[in-house]
Amino acid sequence: MALILNKLQFAASIIRPSLTSRVIPVKCMHPTITKLNEVEQSDQLALQRAPISKDRTTIIPVEVSIRYLKSRAYRETYGDDPVWKIYRRNFKGQFPPKKTRKLCIRGGVIDTGSPCPICRDEYLILDYRNIDLLKQFISEHDGSLLSYNYTNLCQKAYKDLRVAVMKAKEYGLLTFDVPYIYYDYTIWNH
Ligand SMILES: [Zn+2]
Repeated sequence: MALILNKLQFAASIIRPSLTSRVIPVKCMHPTITKLNEVEQSDQLALQRAPISKDRTTIIPVEVSIRYLKSRAYRETYGDDPVWKIYRRNFKGQFPPKKTRKLCIRGGVIDTGSPCPICRDEYLILDYRNIDLLKQFISEHDGSLLSYNYTNLCQKAYKDLRVAVMKAKEYGLLTFDVPYIYYDYTIWNH
């Protein structure tokens, strides 16, 4: 029995470093930044694994968010994946509920253990000018908005996303392009 336990501990010690290296960059994506104008400085802060702050009373301007999506701190956290890719939805029981939760932030503070991909990172602002972020929530096949069951956004973030996407389309910042698929109509002539 003791041998088995030892082996298990040994296996866990091997698995754990690989797990932490995978999880920690995502969890520690909230660097405590005092100077909002200097996103480039935040790159080093993000790498230092700053403690996660649940306070969301600071209003981040959209311009900072747009620069953040092009910064090194963003690339270190998410890589080339969309922001919702490495996220596991937290729910009770075997099957997830039909809808995601209503809110993640109540009274300026994160109210839940696993805030949605938008609410967990305070530098992701849903705005019609933040095109790089909005594009991550649009299907590349038909140009429609991805469901909240797929991207796991909370209902409030999803509502804000819909408004931002509609506004961006009206301003002409987002186009309605869908990939052109060549279809051979001669098969109907038989
Ligand atoms: Zn949320």
